[in-house]
Amino acid sequence: MTRVFSGVKPTGHLTLGNYLGAMRRWAAVDQHRAESLFCIVDLHALTVRHDPARVRRLSRQAASLLLAAGLDPELCTVFVQSHVDEHARLSYLLECVATDGEMRRMIQYKEKAARERDRAGSVRLSLLTYPVLMAADILAYGTDEVPVGDDQAQHVELARDVAVRFNQRYGHTFAVPRATVRAVAARVMNLQDPASKMGKSDDVGPGIVYLLDEPDVARKKVMRAVTDSGRDVVYDRVERPGVANLLEILAACTGGDPAELSGGYQSYGALKKDAAEAVVEVLRPVRERHMELCADPGHVEAVLRDGAARARAMARPTVDAAYRAIGL
Ligand code: ADP
Repeated sequence: MTRVFSGVKPTGHLTLGNYLGAMRRWAAVDQHRAESLFCIVDLHALTVRHDPARVRRLSRQAASLLLAAGLDPELCTVFVQSHVDEHARLSYLLECVATDGEMRRMIQYKEKAARERDRAGSVRLSLLTYPVLMAADILAYGTDEVPVGDDQAQHVELARDVAVRFNQRYGHTFAVPRATVRAVAARVMNLQDPASKMGKSDDVGPGIVYLLDEPDVARKKVMRAVTDSGRDVVYDRVERPGVANLLEILAACTGGDPAELSGGYQSYGALKKDAAEAVVEVLRPVRERHMELCADPGHVEAVLRDGAARARAMARPTVDAAYRAIGL
């Protein structure tokens, strides 16, 4: 059976982008068709400045939201990365296969390093080696497919390179994974700045709809989205990024096609109103299930404990095989 691995970083509150771009498909499609692992990658959250208590809180909240979005622990494995030692064990071996040049070429490293430099001009070493840990996350499970947004495709490419190189050098050990980049809502953009992605790591902003926003708050954020200077509603990502983003959000929420939907609107106001209602309706059941789960924190903890045990049992043979392949 195809094995799928995907992750979510507990660096901020989960957003509409995470939901439409990833979580919804994990729940509706991936967990039914493949042996799927969904990991809250808390070790990755330590690569940038952070408050440890917040990372812990956000990890538990992300777990609850993944379940609220429809991930079913009977069908897939939901767990926290730091609960499974195999990720760090394998990461070290892969650091001995990847090169510093490969790390420095990563676009995300360049972008994040520019923001994270301290007074001495340094960043955490783990920010540089982040893609190696991500490769370990993926390779430890014999993963075939990694559903990712387009911003992560380069990291999956690196995981492939490292797997191939390791296999050539030490004998066949790892399956070579491939990225599956989504067609729908691949990149939900910030409502106030449609040139940048709706990212959860950004400061709380009026352009980001969080999954736990009250309906009124979410509605207002969509209604206040920046649009473009034209008046007619056309789907053009380059010339009209704000309107295109709203059309894509509406299409992702209602199952339509952004270009087709554009024909039905005479004004930006009407489009915003429909997009806002569609967003509120899509988020409503997720929020409600999350509230129910909050009343029973023991359940989420039990799911994570069980998920970690299952993940460990899957990862250990592969990671042990990697050590043996090297002759350790
Ligand atoms: P981020 O910190 O940027 O939210 P994560 O790595 O935690 O990213 O993302 C979890 C999943 O959500 C990934 O599959 C990612 O591609 C997807 N995702 C994140 N933001 C968006 C967005 N704005 N639009 C579409 N998909 C997104």
